[in-house]
Amino acid sequence: MSDVKRPDALHPETLIATAGVATDPAFNSVSPPLHLSANYGWNDPLEKPQYDYARSGNPTRTQLEEALAGLEGAARGVVVSSGMAALDLVLNLVDPGEIVVAPHDCYGGTHRLLTARAKRGQFELVYANQTDPAELEAAFARKPKLVLLETPSNPLLRITDIRAVVAHAKDCGAIVVADNTFLSPALQRPLDLGCDIVVHSTTKFINGHSDVVGGAVLARDKALGDDLAWWANCTGVTGAPFDSFLTLRGLRTLFPRVERQQATAGDVVSRLAADDRVANIYYPGLASHPGHEVAKSQQKGFGSMFSVGFAENVDVIELLRNLNLFTIAESLGGFESLVCTPATMTHAAMTPEARELAGISDRLVRFSIGLEHSDDLVRDIVTALDRAVESGAEKVAYLSSGTASKCA
Ligand SMILES: *Cc1c(COP(=O)(O)O)cnc(C)c1O
Repeated sequence: MSDVKRPDALHPETLIATAGVATDPAFNSVSPPLHLSANYGWNDPLEKPQYDYARSGNPTRTQLEEALAGLEGAARGVVVSSGMAALDLVLNLVDPGEIVVAPHDCYGGTHRLLTARAKRGQFELVYANQTDPAELEAAFARKPKLVLLETPSNPLLRITDIRAVVAHAKDCGAIVVADNTFLSPALQRPLDLGCDIVVHSTTKFINGHSDVVGGAVLARDKALGDDLAWWANCTGVTGAPFDSFLTLRGLRTLFPRVERQQATAGDVVSRLAADDRVANIYYPGLASHPGHEVAKSQQKGFGSMFSVGFAENVDVIELLRNLNLFTIAESLGGFESLVCTPATMTHAAMTPEARELAGISDRLVRFSIGLEHSDDLVRDIVTALDRAVESGAEKVAYLSSGTASKCA
């Protein structure tokens, strides 16, 4: 699989459209074949072949790794079995006593993993609000070995200034790891902004078809990438060939999917903003969003995720029950629109107090916009809102006539 074209010389759209195409030496198949074999024969016991055992490496996974590395501008990529496996792989770079800094509002599974590993003494853990310069300063004063960032955050779409974190990290030699799941390399390239490692849950935008759970780690530096690949083989978290095959297939349409989904999200957001049953919209594309300027400076677009805080007269549970085009589900970034109430779903493991601190109210609804037409999505939300206000009004009427009059 010799690649004469240097990935950097090609536009990313071209890179994924051509990844692995017509590279099959057996039959010259145009679409790359799927190599499911667990093991590969040696021509001679003294000559180790390029592939010998599929955990250590297989041609299908290599194609996906090279495509993802090219997209993120990485020297080496490692494809693993899930986003959580990708994050855990990176934690092999820290030793007991060393400090890991992570965002206080990181993905719930990441929070659980970091907390559990820290409790076992694998490292010391400091959670910080990385959008607050004073907290960032305090976290870096402890001289961390590894800093994880996740921007935009979930579910409030807070924006962390990647360049500011990198500047601090340079001062103390910390490794900066960016979870780029929410935007994908189509909209943000953290390695260009100075990060050392990008991790992905490829389950989301990268595959985009909600039929694979997978992850990837992309390192800017070859030696660091080789180290991560060694650990991935050692611990056995590498991705399966069939998952890699499907993910490369999904990846080919990343750019048109992401562009269309974010255009639709922008349209839905601006039409919802005019509705008086909407109290707050959290979308970095809005000039009123506190992270708008930073997002503009480090992202190529604002993405297709947003959250809405609904007014008090809206029963948000009824709202979700009345949506027909949005599936009530966790996850994001697929071709299909999804909706969730973080307080009862993605963030249910947090205590009500912790949710309050993080700014996640019971009235918050998170939307992931898919490939449907925006007219249909807006009509679906407005119709469900009409019903959610009616049912909410009935419920409130039993409590006090004062509140009930608000719902009229
Ligand atoms: C989903 C997700 C993960 C975890 O990925 P899995 O593929 O579900 O293991 C990590 N980080 C972010 C931001 C995610 O959205």
